[in-house]
Amino acid sequence: MSKSSKWDIQSRLIHRGSGIDFSRVRTPNPPIFQTSNYLYEDVEGGTDILVGKKEGYIYSRYSNPTIDSLNEVLADIEAGDAALSFNSGLAAISAAILAYCKAGDHVVASALIYGGTYHLFQEQMGRLGIETTFVNPTDFTEIKGAIKNNTRVLYTEPLANPTLVSSDIRQWADTAHKHHCKLLVDNTFTPPPLFQPLRSGADVVIHSATKYLGGHSDLTGGAIIASHKEIENISPALRYFGGIISPFIAWLLLRGVRTLGVRLERQCNSAFRIAQHLEKHPNILKANYAGLPSNPQYKFNKKQFRQFSGMLSFEVKGGFSRAKKVMQKLQLIQFTVSLGDVASLISHPASTSHVYLTPAERESIGVRENLLRLSVGIEKIEDLIADLDQALKY
Ligand SMILES: *Cc1c(COP(=O)(O)O)cnc(C)c1O
Repeated sequence: MSKSSKWDIQSRLIHRGSGIDFSRVRTPNPPIFQTSNYLYEDVEGGTDILVGKKEGYIYSRYSNPTIDSLNEVLADIEAGDAALSFNSGLAAISAAILAYCKAGDHVVASALIYGGTYHLFQEQMGRLGIETTFVNPTDFTEIKGAIKNNTRVLYTEPLANPTLVSSDIRQWADTAHKHHCKLLVDNTFTPPPLFQPLRSGADVVIHSATKYLGGHSDLTGGAIIASHKEIENISPALRYFGGIISPFIAWLLLRGVRTLGVRLERQCNSAFRIAQHLEKHPNILKANYAGLPSNPQYKFNKKQFRQFSGMLSFEVKGGFSRAKKVMQKLQLIQFTVSLGDVASLISHPASTSHVYLTPAERESIGVRENLLRLSVGIEKIEDLIADLDQALKY
């Protein structure tokens, strides 16, 4: 603002300090552009940006430089052309579904997906006239049989919660494309460098950035990564349903993803050692981990994943009452929902994420009352094993 003295202090308070040209400021980390709108020179310039004839910023529900910095990293690590960031994983998932489906359309989804996504498909999308058939993600006869003329989207997760059953993404993609459908993959459990679903033929990758990407249980966020063409298809659903991430959360996520590689390396190595230890423990009936040689899908898992994530689950001897006691006796490992944190987190799926299923439904997908799920953090491995051992002493 020039000639500031011309205006009253009441007005100068509002306008001073705005419109600084940052184009010559280069920093290793982006500033938080905590702004909802951007100044432009003239009417034509603004219109050109708005209609996409010129690059630039208009309004932060459309784009924001801090969010763009995050999107650049996410697109790169997932081997996509571009990314969109959302204020939660479910905001990203709903935008993706609503971008490809309208009332009367149909989705084929793995029955083993995240509970909130299951509800979104079954109840909320169902209410809008978008119907979902849930299938066993390893049974391609069932998957093919579920596809109908109005099926638009196939949907799965590479590793299912909490039993860690894996989906063959290449085969899911081939099946989807043979029937002119898109394959959407929620890669929250196995982020890069563990697995890049786009390289196995997926059309769209989705993340709950709340988990591994953020990595510190201090934010909720989501992301979609895909080719330019698919991102163009989805971006109106971000703009007009409006679930964009905030500049501050984008900045926190950028800070989080800087250490994703080292965090995951440690989490995977520790999870493997813990799974091996638990498998041999006298009070453990069964340990589920994608990287255990005893896992029936181990040979396939070695082909699909670079490492097998920090997620494992195990069944304790003594049923629900004992499982409860084990969780309560843990001193270092935190008893809470969510996952992917630097801290190790334990949860009881039958009473939390899978509480809405009937006992028979839970049994059919292996979520028994004595099953505990562990998200391995980056603590010293010996401490984690000692904590589990003291809690499992009975
Ligand atoms: C947590 C989670 C979601 C939902 O993400 P929010 O950020 O909580 O909305 C979706 N998929 C998976 C696999 C998750 O773990």
